[in-house]
Amino acid sequence: MSYDLIVIGGGPAGYVGAIRAAQLGKSVACVEREHVGGTCLNWGCIPTKALLKNGEVYSTMARRAAEFGITAQGLSFDWSAVIGRSRQISERLSAGIAYLFKKNKIDHITGEAAIPAPGQVQVTAADGTVTTLEGQNILIATGARTREVPVFPFNGKTIIGSKDALVRETLPQSMLVIGSGAIGTELSYVYHCFGTKVTLVEALPRILPNEDDDVSQAVERSFKKQGITCMAGARVESLQDNGDSVTATITAKNGKQQQVTADVCLVAVGVVPVVPQAEGLQLTERGFIAVDDCYRTSIPGVYAAGDCIGGIMLAHTASYEAEQAVEGMFVPGHAPKKPEVVPGCTYCHPQVASVGARERDLKEAGTEYTVGKFPFMAIGRAVAGGDTDGFVKLIFAKDGGRLIGAHIVGDNATELLTAPELAIGSKMGAADLNAMIFAHPTLSEAIHEAALDAEGRAIHA
Ligand code: NAD
Repeated sequence: MSYDLIVIGGGPAGYVGAIRAAQLGKSVACVEREHVGGTCLNWGCIPTKALLKNGEVYSTMARRAAEFGITAQGLSFDWSAVIGRSRQISERLSAGIAYLFKKNKIDHITGEAAIPAPGQVQVTAADGTVTTLEGQNILIATGARTREVPVFPFNGKTIIGSKDALVRETLPQSMLVIGSGAIGTELSYVYHCFGTKVTLVEALPRILPNEDDDVSQAVERSFKKQGITCMAGARVESLQDNGDSVTATITAKNGKQQQVTADVCLVAVGVVPVVPQAEGLQLTERGFIAVDDCYRTSIPGVYAAGDCIGGIMLAHTASYEAEQAVEGMFVPGHAPKKPEVVPGCTYCHPQVASVGARERDLKEAGTEYTVGKFPFMAIGRAVAGGDTDGFVKLIFAKDGGRLIGAHIVGDNATELLTAPELAIGSKMGAADLNAMIFAHPTLSEAIHEAALDAEGRAIHA
């Protein structure tokens, strides 16, 4: 069996790369050891969003029904049905990718792939059968897996990773979450929605430390108001497994030690790359697959894209990188690009969405800038929806006034982000945004008002 391209891994990098190559008329195989769709679709983005929806419906009814004039008596939920719905959604979308493979005539091969020599992919099936495929080009898109830290050893019961959190049979009464990146923050919120008492611990000075400082502060304030305990700048010194609970010894920001006992501890302190067996494959110092500007690895004819090469590890960057790599292989004259303007979204409540420059980086670099900011509190649509937490913050370059950063906290922030992203891509400034008519009543009026604020003329401030 010989192909123009063999893709290893069926996640957002692998399946998108495979489909793009097929669209370009190439013969393609995709080798995946589990389900197509990868971590995003099976164990990440999608099942967490399904749980989030369940959580928000329940939490709104449990905590805010009266505010909306609704009486809810005997409200309850079936945790196994909640988990079941999210698993069904993942299965449905994974089946959708398998269908797209068929439609694009991509051979979908199940098994563990290795690269014994340039141009060859060896696939070991579950029954031990080994098949060797020949590929003119090979794209490694093997992704990343949860980072396990020796001091917090997973046991699947009281000390768990995100995968376990997505299929837990019972709802814990209390949960300690270590790490407030996207995973820790999103799952803290999901479990909180169902009534679990959550303590979120982050080693860096703020939760969601990669976000603009104003964003981190706003989410922390909102989480505290909702009843999620946040401990930023805190170090988990040790974790003791008590059989049916865990006790963490934590040094708080003020240097004081305290113990927190919870039914379960979710460890969400990052991911490590998954690297297939491949003779002569060079890795970076941090263990990611080393690639050049065209996504070429150290093995001739072998490329890599997505989480396994590091950088910004998000599903959408993975897809972009794979498309770029594939077009570099097959489109004459195409010079592959690396992701530049990359949006990031965190799905808690309030939602977080950001793209481009953060204020602290500009300050550190001594770059001049202008900020326009507007709270959802003063936006009619947000007030009508009963969801006024958060703001839109736009950062404009002093030089020429182009939009260079957007940070949104609030209801539907992740959907609102596309407008500022387009404005950044189109090199628009505050004056260009202010010349536009924004529909009323919409949440996007906060983008307009923030742009007006940058020129000192917000209307509803
Ligand atoms: P992460 O690296 O984004 O965050 C981990 C956090 O843990 C960091 O803030 C770090 O400071 C903190 N930390 C590390 N060690 C600690 C310790 N001992 N005590 C307390 N805090 C500690 O990793 P993640 O949240 O596990 O996510 C993994 C990957 O998945 C990331 O690349 C993320 O971008 C991606 N992801 C993205 C989304 C999304 O875009 N919505 C959702 C889920 C996952």
